[in-house]
Amino acid sequence: MNLDELYKQMILEHNKHPRNFKDVDPCTHYSHGKNPLCGDEFKVMLRLQSNCVEEIGFLGVGCAISKASGSMMTDALKGKTVEECLALKDQFLDLVTQDKEVGSSLGKLKVFEGVKQFPVRVKCAALVWRALEDALEQGSEEHTVSTE
Ligand code: ZN
Repeated sequence: MNLDELYKQMILEHNKHPRNFKDVDPCTHYSHGKNPLCGDEFKVMLRLQSNCVEEIGFLGVGCAISKASGSMMTDALKGKTVEECLALKDQFLDLVTQDKEVGSSLGKLKVFEGVKQFPVRVKCAALVWRALEDALEQGSEEHTVSTE
């Protein structure tokens, strides 16, 4: 199976059965991400305990790519430290926007390399990561981040 097929299969599977698609209550960090270009809208919620992600979830509506991205992101970040989350976020954004080698710690998230071929889709894949970054910066105050 080539990367293109793997990519499509993973996206479809995660879109159908998103992981961590739920509220986190109580949560310590929260952000609401919007991608007006496509109509994707997700909130990302985290509960940090001693600088580690104890619980993480996301909820909202969006296309298959944005939803699959949220599913795989939340799976990847559980148990990680804030620094590890931010490092992974940088690597992910590099993966979908830059033509350079990225670190191996992305694991399964590497299938998103496929979106680079579809520039309009990059924002869909990046949305939940932007919201994550915003949540970690802002804490639990109610606010919204937009890709536009
Ligand atoms: Zn989208």
